[in-house]
Amino acid sequence: MRDAALDLLTGSTCVGCSRPGRMLCPSCRAVLPTTAVRSWPSPVPAGLVPPWATGEYADTLRALVVGHKDRGQWSLARVLAGLLAVSVRAAAGPPDGTPLVLVPVPSRPGSSRRRGYDPTGALVRGAVRVLVRESYDALGAALLVSRGGVVDQAGLTATERAANLAGSMCCPAPGLRRLAARRTRARVVLCDDVLTTGATAREAQRALSAVGLEPAAVAVVAATRRRLPEVGTVSPSHSGPPSLGPAPGRG
Ligand SMILES: [Zn+2]
Repeated sequence: MRDAALDLLTGSTCVGCSRPGRMLCPSCRAVLPTTAVRSWPSPVPAGLVPPWATGEYADTLRALVVGHKDRGQWSLARVLAGLLAVSVRAAAGPPDGTPLVLVPVPSRPGSSRRRGYDPTGALVRGAVRVLVRESYDALGAALLVSRGGVVDQAGLTATERAANLAGSMCCPAPGLRRLAARRTRARVVLCDDVLTTGATAREAQRALSAVGLEPAAVAVVAATRRRLPEVGTVSPSHSGPPSLGPAPGRG
């Protein structure tokens, strides 16, 4: 009754199963991943630090990310932030007193301002709240900014993405100074909602390294399955296992 009433009021349906009611119904919420695994893209961008994801970018995880980022379903931020926290926790290990700094990978210039909402920033803030409750000395620091000139990544190959992104991010000094004032040492984890080719994360890593901050890991909600060769048909010899390895959560 309650969900039916909600649907009448708001017209909302579950992003996972389309059942009328909440944007994520209890059944779909119950099967969300509770662990994260190392999820290397293929090919791996040279030097990329280990990327952690709660599962494959498909099904409910994909619907959550798309709903939040592209459809303005901002109330999904909370559940996505919880998933991001799962990945950060897996990347960082148990709390050991080392400050944990979550750095959001910046959106393309204009994209978040146009929407008036920063999806990755919102997830990082939520994940920090979760981790602080779990006794981590965690904080979010939006250290990176995107420069102009980057085209939409959709449809580009891994090589084209890397070329498109080279030098596209930087870490301005005021953000670094603010961070240094708050924490003199830290374990830095780059955060994003989705890892595709790893090119964006690698560029963010480069920009932090350029100012002397070496990220320990990348944490994302979901990672795309390893890509098969980019051109030509798929032969049986290419049908290897997905890059996420065994049991990428239950999602
Ligand atoms: Zn559902």
